[in-house]
Amino acid sequence: MSRSTQVHKFGGASLATAEAMAHAVTIVLAHRPAPMVVVVSALAGVTDALLDIATKGPRGGAGAAALRRKHLGVARALFSGARRKDVISRVDEAFADLKVPRKMTPPARDSLLARGEQMSARLFAGALAQAGCPVEYVSATDLIVTDDTFGQASADLARTGRAVRKTLGRLLGRGVVAVVPGFIGATPDGQITTLGRGGSDLTATLLASALGAREVSLWKDVPGVLTADPKVVPDAHVVPQLHAREAAELAYYGAKVLHPRALIPLGKRNIAVRIRPFANPAATGTEISQRSTLRAHPVKAISAIPGQALLTVTGNGMLGVPGIAARTFAAVQHAGVSVSLISQASSEHSICFTVPSGSAERARKSLRETFRREIARREIDGVEVRAGVVAVAIVGLGMAATPGIAARAFTALADAGINVVAIAQGSSELNLSVVVDGRHGAAAQRAVHAAFQLNKVIS
Ligand code: ADP
Ligand code: ASP
Ligand code: MG
Repeated sequence: MSRSTQVHKFGGASLATAEAMAHAVTIVLAHRPAPMVVVVSALAGVTDALLDIATKGPRGGAGAAALRRKHLGVARALFSGARRKDVISRVDEAFADLKVPRKMTPPARDSLLARGEQMSARLFAGALAQAGCPVEYVSATDLIVTDDTFGQASADLARTGRAVRKTLGRLLGRGVVAVVPGFIGATPDGQITTLGRGGSDLTATLLASALGAREVSLWKDVPGVLTADPKVVPDAHVVPQLHAREAAELAYYGAKVLHPRALIPLGKRNIAVRIRPFANPAATGTEISQRSTLRAHPVKAISAIPGQALLTVTGNGMLGVPGIAARTFAAVQHAGVSVSLISQASSEHSICFTVPSGSAERARKSLRETFRREIARREIDGVEVRAGVVAVAIVGLGMAATPGIAARAFTALADAGINVVAIAQGSSELNLSVVVDGRHGAAAQRAVHAAFQLNKVIS
């Protein structure tokens, strides 16, 4: 495989119109003749619309008709002559057999969701061909081999690697640009799966890892990874460089700009990920790599997970009893609930953790069942649920060597009149997480952002 290979991914937020698609084509052409793979997301809003159709079942006909019109509109604006006819008939085919079963099973749902990426990648491949570029549409189901966790599938790195090298290696060697729909994979027996919302980022890094690419460019509707979500903190600023561990931490903790698992396929390899502004291709954006830079900035950025509930297991009978934590998390796992933040004081009097609000009741029931006897004996008081909290994560590798970070964060929150409900910090000191009431989520992010002066140019 050639080290000069580039992977470019165009996100749905950027691909909203025919003009946007034409702009993406100019970006690809500007990077020729390097061996190149292009990963394409569904057009803006399409995955949400497909999810809506999946929920409504056969009543979702109007939504399907609107999607067909949307794609035909883009096709008509982009193409002329025989190519227009060809693309239009493909769009028609895709929507003609868009059967929405009465009972939507997880596999049927994933096959339906996959249409968005399949359609936009077809349009993109057509647009590149029209611009005179040698190009081939490659089905993601021939490349990304996953398990059968529909809706949130994990890729099998070894099998994906072999499939990618076999199929794409040949094309890239001939100077052909491969266009691949993002977000989609298939089980070894060929059932279509999806990689979770935002999964096209992961498709791009999976392909880059398999090909030993030099760089992955994720073209976004923002100037790069910013110091906070710009929708919450208006004076958020571009971070020029992040270590992969910092970026992964921000992504896990809710920064939508990067799929939470996108950096996993790259491991510690020297493949840089660039978050680049679609609107300004000449700008450098954010480099995510194995370098540690910006040492003057112990805190690089903040992110937040809204819509959480804080569960607390309390009781005097927990002190020194082995296995309480293990049983707590086993109970949560038994309920099929994923935990994000965990905290226990050394008094061992309580353990608290956050889960998505929608799963809180299920987790609580399972915990009460597990500790039935301890609750009856009053060794455990019960399980408290505090709904509607936000976990704000303060992230930076340099925090480990800098005293006073927590003090600054807590002072800023106190000055803003915001009560801290819970705190967690791993011993790696890469991430300090603070749980606050949901009503104060945005104010808390702005206060912490200001306290670390993240609105100033980081360079
Ligand atoms: P794409 O469709 O290209 O994958 P997304 O919509 O998934 O784009 O991600 C970009 C969005 O992520 C931005 O519009 C922004 O609102 C949000 N976002 C959240 N946190 C950050 C951050 N720290 N930096 C940049 N964008 C962020
Ligand atoms: N289209 C999918 C989504 O909206 C995947 C992606 O955009 O990366 O989640
Ligand atoms: Mg995304």
